[in-house]
Amino acid sequence: MIRIEENYFIQALHTFRMPVYARWFVEYDTVEDLVSLLQSDLLRTHSFLPMGGGSNLLFVHEYYDSVLLHSAIRSVELLNETDSEVLVKVGAGVVWDDFVADCVAKGWGGAENLSYIPGEVGASAVQNIGAYGVEVKDIIVEVETIEVATGTPRIFQNAECEYGYRSSIFKHELKGKYIVTAVTYRLQKQPHLHLDYGNLRSSLPEGNITIADVRRAVIAIRRAKLPEPDEYGSAGSFFMNPVIPVEQYEKLKASYPDMPHYVVDQGHVKVPAGWLIDRCGWKGKEEGGAAVYEKQCLVLINKKNARPSDVVRLAEKIKQSVHDTYGITINPEVNYIE
Ligand SMILES: Cc1cc2nc3c(=O)[nH]c(=O)nc-3n(C[C@H](O)[C@H](O)[C@H](O)COP(=O)(O)OP(=O)(O)OC[C@H]3O[C@@H](n4cnc5c(N)ncnc54)[C@H](O)[C@@H]3O)c2cc1C
Repeated sequence: MIRIEENYFIQALHTFRMPVYARWFVEYDTVEDLVSLLQSDLLRTHSFLPMGGGSNLLFVHEYYDSVLLHSAIRSVELLNETDSEVLVKVGAGVVWDDFVADCVAKGWGGAENLSYIPGEVGASAVQNIGAYGVEVKDIIVEVETIEVATGTPRIFQNAECEYGYRSSIFKHELKGKYIVTAVTYRLQKQPHLHLDYGNLRSSLPEGNITIADVRRAVIAIRRAKLPEPDEYGSAGSFFMNPVIPVEQYEKLKASYPDMPHYVVDQGHVKVPAGWLIDRCGWKGKEEGGAAVYEKQCLVLINKKNARPSDVVRLAEKIKQSVHDTYGITINPEVNYIE
């Protein structure tokens, strides 16, 4: 079924929860409907954006003068099961955390560290979502897509997706060229737990730990650190952690000995953007209705009736001040939608 809405108020359809209208909002629930939409006048004569749960989008204007294209493909298919693992194909429109909850309930390990990340399955494979030492690329087998230009299906094996930190070929070289319709994940029946990241292990009970324990702990930590959507709108981490050359880090360390860092490779380190923003004095600062979240400076929130321009201005000022202070450029993780 295809649903087409015109001049549609999308405040509830993106997690920043700002008052934005889209010229069109279009939803489909089968691959065939997607293909016929791609051949329609509407999509052939207007630009469009495939969207999921809108949890990594910043609409920069109050009117989005194009088409938002949302998948409601919500099938879940067990493709293969052995004594040790399962392969599950999941429709792009399934809510990511519903899938994780289902895996955990069935005792299938691999996704539990990624519990409670907002958004949908299609975007998980585009964004390479990650948390607590796990990235979704670790469990993706293949990604089913439709090519926008031709309407033909193409399956990308994991290695073809060119996964990196919060990135994939769908965000770069092939941006806008393919729409994800389903993702196949591999999950383990004898899960290998990943507990050595941040304060995860210390938040777990002593003794025999299950994937259900891990999910509970991850959700509790996330709830304590990140704004709940009904508290404040946000898009999670607004900026990516910058990767800088080791020489630059060594020079900065002389002036800022407590600057945290993680080794990326021989020549590069990653510096937490939240630390840089905090040290520039941005914690809790407001710009119109937008603000820097008190509990985590990496998160910009819709504190009180924020407008898109408030968030854009706040982000620009933060970026400038981090650059002026440290000579480091921080770039948004959030997708700016013009
Ligand atoms: C409170 C909060 C916490 C968060 N925590 C994390 C975290 O811990 N780790 C993490 O990695 N992310 C996190 N995020 C970011 C966000 O949840 C992820 O980026 C998520 O994958 C976005 O999914 P979505 O369905 O909302 O995608 P959207 O925001 O709607 O879209 C994101 C991008 O994917 C593209 N896209 C969406 N669907 C498709 C499709 N079917 N085919 C092709 N392209 C598509 C869009 O065009 C856009 O470029 C957080 C966000 C919030 C609000």
